[in-house]
Amino acid sequence: AKAQGKGRRVTYEPALDQHSAEQARTAADLRVALDTGQLRLHYQPIVRLSDAQTVAVEALVRWHHPERGMIRPDLFIPAAERTGLIVPVGQWVLTEACRQAARWRDELGALEYVSVNVSPRQLREAGFAAQVQATLLRFGLHPRHLTVEVTETAVFDGGSGLEELHQLKRLGVNVALDDFGTGHSSLGLLRTCPVDLLKVDKSFIDNITDQGERSVIAEALIGISDGLRLRAVAEGVETQAQADVLLRLGYRYAQGYHFGRPMPAEDLPAHLNAAHPA
Ligand code: C2E
Ligand code: CA
Ligand code: CA
Ligand code: CA
Repeated sequence: AKAQGKGRRVTYEPALDQHSAEQARTAADLRVALDTGQLRLHYQPIVRLSDAQTVAVEALVRWHHPERGMIRPDLFIPAAERTGLIVPVGQWVLTEACRQAARWRDELGALEYVSVNVSPRQLREAGFAAQVQATLLRFGLHPRHLTVEVTETAVFDGGSGLEELHQLKRLGVNVALDDFGTGHSSLGLLRTCPVDLLKVDKSFIDNITDQGERSVIAEALIGISDGLRLRAVAEGVETQAQADVLLRLGYRYAQGYHFGRPMPAEDLPAHLNAAHPA
């Protein structure tokens, strides 16, 4: 069997083979991580541009691996998606975020909502909306304090994604279209998808200060958002110059390192009290 394994190996691209072995290891490790409490949520401020006040936060998962250190979600979410582990991981994220949102509602009334990323496979899982409802009830959290961030892939790659979204809307949960403007979330979706909020992808924000014409797409996207009476959040704002341009274009909300990096829940109250760039 060993010889056969070796023989098969040569027919694979070495890099690809390594890649899938790495992913298999990651998936197995992730199961352990989930069961032993190695996952954490960090929260990144979403601010009102006019005064840089934090009005909401996005929950972003972090994996503190005992040997590999902190692993970024980009490195394990895709593997979790492929293996289906994203379903229990996603449920854990939802539960933690709602638990924390309920605490913050009592401690720091100022936060409008906590935003949670939902993967395609998770959304298409039958009963996803019902699970969200049960989780909200468990923590006595009003649905308006929760936003789910989805991408086009999540809604349209077959299955019941769209139906689950409509059910979430009926519950009163906010729906955000993540990475808006990229291939993952395009205009056609706005016709059929019950969306409240557009997260304008960082790639359209990155170079808005370079030349006048570079902000054309960012301007078009806020125009679409306003025209449809949606809210827009500009993602990945790293400088005050970008924030200035966004305000001039009519953006009201933004998120990015300029306003705050993702941080552990316990750091948020101090961040809210500290001086902000305005
Ligand atoms: P995303 O949902 O688009 O999240 C935004 C990412 O951009 C985060 O990376 C955040 O830390 C980063 N970011 C925010 N502001 C800035 C900035 O000013 N500059 C730069 N360079 N980056 C900025 P992160 O936390 O590594 O997450 C990466 C992706 O992993 C997320 O992209 C999301 O697609 C996925 N992800 C994270 N947490 C979860 C989760 O709980 N569930 C699911 N399904 N996916 C998640
Ligand atoms: Ca997101
Ligand atoms: Ca995004
Ligand atoms: Ca992204």
